[in-house]
This record gives sequence, C-alpha cells and structure tokens, in this order.
Amino acid sequence: MLGISNRGLAKLVSMFKHGDIELDEVPGTRVHEEIVHKHFDSVATHLEIRCSSTRLDTLELAQPHKLMQLLVAENAAIADDYYSAARACSPSMQAPWNLVVAYDEFTPSDSLKPNKMHKKSMCVYFSFMELMDNDGWLADAKWIPFAIARTATHLSCGFSPYLRALVHCLVFGDAESDFVRLGAPVQSDGRDPILIFARLHAIISDADGLRAGYAWKGFRALRCCLKHSNAVANNSDLAHRRPGFVEITNADPSLFIRTSIEEIDEIVDTLIAFRGSPTALGKLETGLGFAKSEYGLLADRSLRRHVGPSRSLIDVAHFDWMHCALQDCIFVTEANALFRQIGGTVIADIKAFLRDTPWQFPSSTNRNCRALHRIFDEWRSSTDGGIKCGCSEALCLFMVLNCWVEEHVLGPASTPFKESFRAMAKVISILLATKRRKMSMTDGAARLASAHRSYYRAHIAAYGDEHVKPKMHYIFDIAEQFKEFVRWCVLDMFVVERLHQTVRDIARLVDYTGRWERSILSAVINKKLETTESRHGLHGRIHQSELFPGVQCARSIGSQPNLGVDDVVFWDDLLCCGIIQACCKEGDELFIIIAAFQQVSISSSFCSRWLRTPDAYVVRRPSSVVPACAWRCEGDLFIVLSYLGC
Ligand SMILES: [Zn+2]
Repeated sequence: MLGISNRGLAKLVSMFKHGDIELDEVPGTRVHEEIVHKHFDSVATHLEIRCSSTRLDTLELAQPHKLMQLLVAENAAIADDYYSAARACSPSMQAPWNLVVAYDEFTPSDSLKPNKMHKKSMCVYFSFMELMDNDGWLADAKWIPFAIARTATHLSCGFSPYLRALVHCLVFGDAESDFVRLGAPVQSDGRDPILIFARLHAIISDADGLRAGYAWKGFRALRCCLKHSNAVANNSDLAHRRPGFVEITNADPSLFIRTSIEEIDEIVDTLIAFRGSPTALGKLETGLGFAKSEYGLLADRSLRRHVGPSRSLIDVAHFDWMHCALQDCIFVTEANALFRQIGGTVIADIKAFLRDTPWQFPSSTNRNCRALHRIFDEWRSSTDGGIKCGCSEALCLFMVLNCWVEEHVLGPASTPFKESFRAMAKVISILLATKRRKMSMTDGAARLASAHRSYYRAHIAAYGDEHVKPKMHYIFDIAEQFKEFVRWCVLDMFVVERLHQTVRDIARLVDYTGRWERSILSAVINKKLETTESRHGLHGRIHQSELFPGVQCARSIGSQPNLGVDDVVFWDDLLCCGIIQACCKEGDELFIIIAAFQQVSISSSFCSRWLRTPDAYVVRRPSSVVPACAWRCEGDLFIVLSYLGC
C-alpha cells in the first residue's frame, strides 16, 4: 500500500465509500486476510437462530468444540491446563465436568466515534469449573470466547433466543462432537486425547444480562426475583393478600421459596400457549415475572432435561455479586443515601480527600484507581446526582470511602446512618473474604445471609424502605449460590470485565462492519493462541540474580491477583504486613521477597498503621499473601487498608 499513487488511493477510497467492494476483494488484501482469519475460519460455523415464527437469524461464530480443540492443540499453556485438570478429575459420561457460561453486553470504548452504539455487543464465553486452580482461580486464559453479536443488527428480538441457540450448540454440539453423548475430544501434540463430557452448571451475568437471557421481566415485574417465586415488589399491595408471599423489603431469608421446576415449566408453557390480546399478555407477563418467548432459553426442552432432574434452568442462572454489591446496588445506594443525609459540601469534601491524599493501590488495579476523585466529577454523576462507577473503581472507592466515613463522618456516637453504612461494609467484606478464600464457601454463605439480614434492618431503620431495590434482595440469592459452589469458590464477573477489555481494544480498531463478528473473533482467537506467558510465572523483563545463581527476578508475578514490586501485602491472617521488594523464581518455585513492617496501631477493623523497619525481610509464596486494598505513607509510616476485617 505504501507505494500506491494518489490516484490509486482516491479510487480505493471511493470504492469503499460507495460500498461496491468487500474488503476481501481489494487486490493485495487476500494474503493479509488469510493470515488474520486463518484460525477463525478453520473453526467457524453459521448458527441458525429462530427468533420468531417468521424470523430466522444467522450468526457467524466459532464452533465451541472446534475452538477448544484448536486452543488445546496450538497453545501449550492452555493444553497444560486441560491435561492437569483431567488428571485431577477425569471427565466421563457419568462424571461430567461442570460447564459455565458467562456473557455480558459491552460498548466499544471509543466514545468519539459516531458509530459506537452500532457496535454495542453481547459477548459469550465458556469455561469449566474443573479448570480452576488450587488457589480457587479460574484464570482469564481459561475462558473461551466463542460468540459475539451486535445488539443493533442481531438482538432486536431479544437475547433469549440467541442464548438458547448458543447454549444448545455448546452443550449438544453437532454430529461430530458434543458434551453429552459422544464427548468432545481435545489433544495436544504427542499426548493422549482427552474426551470431555460436561454438564451445564451455571450461566452467569449481571441482573440486566439475566433479564435479557431468560426473557425475565426483571425488577420491574411484580415477582421481582428470578429464583424466588414468592418475593414480590415493594408496595405492590400483594404480599398480604396471598399466604406465603413476602415483599422484597423482607429481611428474613427463611421466608423465601425457590421457584420449583414444575412452577417454572408451567409459567413458560402458560405464556407460550397464551393467545389473548397484547394488553392481557402484558398483564400476565408482569404477574408471572417472565415475557412470552416461544424460542427463548427457558422453552428449550432438551436443555431443561439436560440440567434436570433436580435443577431447572432457573437454578443454573447465577447472579453476579459484584454487580449486586458494588456497582449499582448496596454500596452505591448506601453511599448516595449517606451523602444526601450529610448534605452541604460533602461531595466536594470527598473529592478533595481523594485527590489530595496520596492513596496508592495494588499494581493489579492501579489503572482504574489512580483518579478515583473523577467519579465525583459532575459529568460522570448519574441523573439523580448520585455516584456512578464501574466495578473495579467501586471496589477501590468502597475501601477509601470506608476510611473517610470512619474518620470524617461517623465519630464515636452511634447513629442509625452510621450503623447502616457499617452493616453494608460488613456484607461486602464477607463477600470479598469468601472470594479471597479466607472463609469457606459454607461459612461465607451462612455469614453473608446473616450479615445481609442485619444490613437490611439497619438500612430500613435509618432510611425507611424508599431505597430498597430488588437488587438488594439478590444478595440473599448469592448466599444460596455459594452453597452450589462449595467445591470451588466464588464465581464472578470481574473476569468477564477483563476479558471484555481485550475484545474492546480490538473492537476499537475494527471499522469494517461487513462481517464485524468475524473480524473481532479472528483477532481475539489469534491473541489467545499467541499468549504463551505462563500465568503463574514471572511477568515482564526477567533478570538473573547475581547474588544467588539460578534465581530469576522480575517486577511482577502471575497470581490471584497479580502481585508487583511496591505492593503492600498482608500474611498470617492479617497479623503481618510489608511491602514487596522482588518477585522471584527458583526452579518451579515462585516466591516474593517482602520488607516487613512493624505494627504501630489498629485504627479500625480495616485500617491499621505500620512502621517500616530496616533490614527486616521475609520470603513468602504468592498464594500465602493477601494484597492490601489501598495504602498511603507518611515518611516511614504506612496507613494500610484491608478488606478482610470481618
Ligand atoms: Zn431471590
């Protein structure tokens, strides 16, 4: 292209503009095209999706089994994951692996491009719980993105028929392989093949995603919980009329009744059979909590049988804790209510506190947290004047705001507002402690339900039930979900947010909309195939130690989460604290060298003060330390925030 004349270039531009040529047809682009799309094209398939009796869509995607085979065959690191998981737990028809599907909508990040909204897309990934490592981490690299669909061009009939077709295709495969009867073979060069059998265990998304995927009416319906059939909307004037029904403001988890398999089947079948007027249908849908979706996920009888006989497709749905607890629910609701209660210059004060106090954050989160004060910028706040932020930001803000509230607002005297805020902080701390495996799933489930019950009561005592949203109730569902994951650990959408980042970076560069899905998936798959960096190894430039031959050092290390030099970490149940000096590897062993601190005082359940002491070093395994949430230093004094004080 560099040698092309101005006239040639003008001709080319005009061809593109007038749309009379596909990119593939431009002379000279064929070679590039073959390299870029080689892998995707080798596993591509066209899936027919029945959206209505008159509409049949086609989506180009990567056939999930073939894509999995390609990744295991071509990428040694991915192959190692599968082979070691199969050694620990060999998949068979009688003992299938547990398949998890995650999806979420994302908007390509370039807000200055006019066609941005046209590319708002749903991205679907799958993985197996058996691939989770000993630290309870289902790493990003273990998720396989196999389908993407633009909302504007594909999803005008809703996402449920798409989710049905995609999950069906994933589970039941095609004539060559499936996860149920034949198994899906994977093989790495020189090793025996593994035949993978799997059963659908969980479908995870945020509440909006589940609403779209399940054709569920969401929190606007009378029955506003996907999983509890007797939980009805606040002030709906229904609960007292029917025995056994409770409003969403009820804080007693023992009163909620799970929607049974028969009940959900009956709801779906009744809706499909309904032939009345649109108004009557609307009323029926609001009452039952689901929309009529003849070709939606819940109508798929083979999937219903597949997850049964003791579970329904509703039981498979998995609420994401971080969306329910951090981003747009209890943390944000509680913070906004408190700000309104304090009033005056509170927002400006917090903004100044965040901007002027040199808080530092772990290297794994730093990118999102450097400018926390920007959350309070006018142009970012939501229409009702409250705060609005992403999940990673919310997590950092939660900690620092906790500290600010304790130092500047709460004071020694107890007030209902203070109790409510503290009760909310405890709920989130339990969620985080369970996620970090500092608490067992069984213990976490019990403590979460009890803490959330206390929070409900404290919140209603302080503010009434005005701010109680159905999303607040979903934390009770999350406590129940923990019990279904006792063998593993907390599954959440942080991983999907990170996976989206890769897709978003690629989507930003793709302007060609002819076969957009293919362009994106090609690049995503190529990137997955190229990733050879061991997730549990050293990251970045590696040096050989001069002092200790055989020891390699680097600035960061792959762990859960990644750790880096200058990160403050805790170990021994938060009794010890220090700052990482080096990340090292000797043979297969990974370790970190930490300059240990001496404790000065404990300011609150999550804030402590430490002094740096000269020449006190310790060596620890990455899995045995917990990164601090945030810290700031005043000379040799470190003020450190942890989120495990529960
Ligand atoms: Zn519920």
